[in-house]
Order: sequence, then structure tokens, then C-alpha cells
Amino acid sequence: MVDARHELEDLLAGGTAVERLGGGMAWAEGPLWVPSRRAVRCSDIPGDRVMEWHEPTGSWGVLAEGVEFTNGRTLGLGGEVVQCSHGRRRVEVERDGVVTGLVDSWRGHRLNSPNDVVVRSDGTVWFTDPSYGIHRAAEGHPGEEEYGGHHVFRHDPATGELDAVVTDVAMPNGLAFSPDQRVLYVADSSRSPTRDDDPPGDGHAVHAYDVVDGRRCERGRVLAEVDPGLPDGVRVDEHGHVWTTSATAVLVLRPDGSEVGRVPVGEVVSNLCFGGGAGTDVFVTASTSLYRLRTRVRDAAAVLAPRG
Ligand code: MG
Repeated sequence: MVDARHELEDLLAGGTAVERLGGGMAWAEGPLWVPSRRAVRCSDIPGDRVMEWHEPTGSWGVLAEGVEFTNGRTLGLGGEVVQCSHGRRRVEVERDGVVTGLVDSWRGHRLNSPNDVVVRSDGTVWFTDPSYGIHRAAEGHPGEEEYGGHHVFRHDPATGELDAVVTDVAMPNGLAFSPDQRVLYVADSSRSPTRDDDPPGDGHAVHAYDVVDGRRCERGRVLAEVDPGLPDGVRVDEHGHVWTTSATAVLVLRPDGSEVGRVPVGEVVSNLCFGGGAGTDVFVTASTSLYRLRTRVRDAAAVLAPRG
């Protein structure tokens, strides 16, 4: 039963203090709890490496280097890691350290630079494809936008289908489904006041779409505008709250877009994920660092279909 009438204090287990777990990154992104390793990993995009924090020991270090600028990632239904690569301009799968491509083109044109990804309980892979990784030299390889847009795609690995499901968000970034998977949330991060190498734009909202027949997005609307800065990562908890990021904080929204509250973080925030042994820790990537926030809730997807 979805009940999103909580106050922030109901959702947090120990107040709004965040704990810094590791640092030294140039721009941290793409956190994911990997149950089989009892660890959270994240991308240091300009550093072209994946970092890992191991929960049992608290150790923090480099997991992989020369990773072709990975960004966001999620767990597949079998516990494998599904991740986005700016450098390879594709969505790929990592199993036991071996990386294989999943999808890299649409209608004969290469993707831009997939940014973040989520796997629906039917096994379809939904991802965003803005152009940061081909425009920002430090975050990939310079290149052209080949299909002429920045879309959200749905890929069905069973059939090979790749369909554009959202085409009206300027720079789609983080994405997540509601607990019943009938709503898709997409962050627009096209507001780029500090980046001269980004396309012009002022999008700084989380958008919501009705998911029809598990394969189309309709009735797009703005769920909430995010200030200061812009939303990047998006996750949804088991009660339907939408957890997203701004320049200064983690924001928690209700399904109607009203704000439950915000958790200040001392650096510009990029992304977040649920994890930890009980699934109730929120791991936050913010500029140079990885942080942990203790909560009382789990990821909606983890409750729907436990993975890994
Ligand atoms: Mg992102």
C-alpha cells in the first residue's frame, strides 16, 4: 500500500546529517549498491574510473580504470550491473568484471551518451540519452549528435526493440518508476549556468509521464521544479516518494510534486541510490565525494522485485 503522507523525520533514521564515506573524485556520479559485493560503487566520470566503498570493512578505493566514462547504473533482474558509458555511447552490462554491450544505436544512428538507466520488472531497460558525454571533453569523447535529439529510450533485450518513449525533455538525466511502474519520472538537467560547453537551456524540473501498456509514455507534465541548480539523479522509495538532487541537497517529493523536505549536502549533489544491508541507506554522490544517509525506507524497485 502506497502511503506518501510522510514527514521528512518519518523517512530518516538519524536526522539529516550525511556521513562522508570517500572522496578524491573529480565528478562523482552513478551510485549503485551491489548486493553480491556488499558494496556501493560509483563513477568518477572525468577520472574515467569506477570507485567502490565496501560496507563490511569501510574500505574505499578504485574498482576499475579506463572504463570509457561510465555514468549511471542499475541492477538487472539477475543481479548484473546495467550501466551507461559515455565513451562507448552505449548501455552495457557488467557481470563479474566482464563488460558487454547491450544497445548503442537507434535507427542506424549512434546514441549520444547514455546517462542513467533503470530496469523495469518485465526486464525492459529504460535509459536517458543527453549529450553531455560528447560535448564535455572531460566526460567522454567529442562527437556529433547523430539522431538529432535527446531522448528517453525503452529497450527490450528479449526482442532487440529500441523505442524512443520521451522526446520532449531537453536534457533527460535521472529516471525512475513509481512503485506500481505506471509513472515514469525523468529529470531535465538542461539548466547549465556554469558550463560553457553545454547547449543552452533552463530546464530544472522533474517530469512525470503515465506509462501505458508498459511501453509508451503519455500525458507528460512537470512534477516539480528544482532549485537551486538542477535535478540529476532520481529514485523512488517504496511509499512513492521521489528522491532527487539539487545543487545543495537531496530533495524528497511526494507523488503530487509537493516537497516533503530536503537534506543538505556540503557539495553539489549529482545522484543517489538506496542500498546497504537493509536496503535503507541512501548513498549520495556529490562532486568529489560519496555520502551515506540513514533512512527507514527502501527503493520501490527493490521491494517489487528483489535483485541480486
Ligand atoms: Mg546523471
